[in-house]
Amino acid sequence: MVDAPEPILLNDFRRAWAEVGGGVLEATAKVGSSGWYILGEEVRRFEAALAILWGFDHAVGVGNGLDALEIGLRCLGIRAGDRVLTTPVSAFASSLAILRVGAIPVFVDVDERGLLDLDAAEERLRRGDVRGLLPVHLCGHVVDLDRLEDLAQRHGVLLLEDCAQSIGATWKGRSTGSAGAVAATSFYPTKNLGAMGDGGALLCRDPEHAARARRLRSYGEGARYDHVEIGLNSRLDELQAAILGDVMLPRLASWTGRRAAIAERYCSSIPSRRIEIPVSAPDSQPVWHLFPVLVEPHRRESFRAHCGARGIATGIHYPIAIPDQRAVAGLELEEVNELPRARRWCASEVSLPIHPWLDAEEIDRVIEACAAWPG
Ligand SMILES: *Cc1c(COP(=O)(O)O)cnc(C)c1O
Repeated sequence: MVDAPEPILLNDFRRAWAEVGGGVLEATAKVGSSGWYILGEEVRRFEAALAILWGFDHAVGVGNGLDALEIGLRCLGIRAGDRVLTTPVSAFASSLAILRVGAIPVFVDVDERGLLDLDAAEERLRRGDVRGLLPVHLCGHVVDLDRLEDLAQRHGVLLLEDCAQSIGATWKGRSTGSAGAVAATSFYPTKNLGAMGDGGALLCRDPEHAARARRLRSYGEGARYDHVEIGLNSRLDELQAAILGDVMLPRLASWTGRRAAIAERYCSSIPSRRIEIPVSAPDSQPVWHLFPVLVEPHRRESFRAHCGARGIATGIHYPIAIPDQRAVAGLELEEVNELPRARRWCASEVSLPIHPWLDAEEIDRVIEACAAWPG
């Protein structure tokens, strides 16, 4: 009798722990014995390392990715009533940040990669009443940074890239996030650089943006107990910063390399007859936060059941377009034309496992399951 093979998970935190556990315990002991738990040396060190990795002058650690986006929008000067153009296919947080500053999301359709369609975006920007642009480098794929920069300059809009899924991804060698003055990311545990809890960061070029972000993450406090604006409580813990800086960040390049190698195997070996693999842009180097494939909407559940029966977990990113979420019903928002590709993406997408701890046999199992799917 052969044992059934282990299930293949979308994210395998137990295997991650086998690799990082020792280092995490050391980092924990270091912070514990330091007697300093909030906004101290660990956060400063991690912020410095992250800024260098990302090619920004400043990084500001915050409580999570949503807050990084909200604080980023406020640093740029987005105000209540402003229109911010964004994508309908993302984590809800991208649009929630716009709503939390009181701004109005303007949803533009996506392209065949599920990324903001920049032609449609440009057409809407020509009307001149949009103040902000919030694209998302979804799944670790890269929105054209040259065009983003050009759009922001020519139409005078404030640009904030959501890099929660794209740490390390580049366009012609430039990091995502670099087209605008600030960029936001998340250290939610499933992200490519994940903490063991919540965390996020804002990357800034301008020291004034960085100073404002530091103030906003801490009750809008200028000098101690001197509150100069209405801020948040959104601090990155010393513990998370030590884990990220000592244990996770030094391994990020190797984990990203594993993801890219798995993606290459999938792209070259998964038969494309019934399963469409969106190809990455030639000028980009994606980081494969997710590996999305598209199937006929009415066959999606059959495909997921087929994988599930072979012990392969799959996900959907995302099943509901943001303007279709019940939470935004009745709120002021704008849909530019219909959003047919966004809704088709939401009805067709399936994410295959691509975490760095998949072994060769498991990668083959995923490919074989795809090949064996009758469609
Ligand atoms: C995860 C994620 C966020 C939000 O990050 P949190 O840390 O969970 O608040 C925002 N945008 C995108 C694209 C994400 O994937």
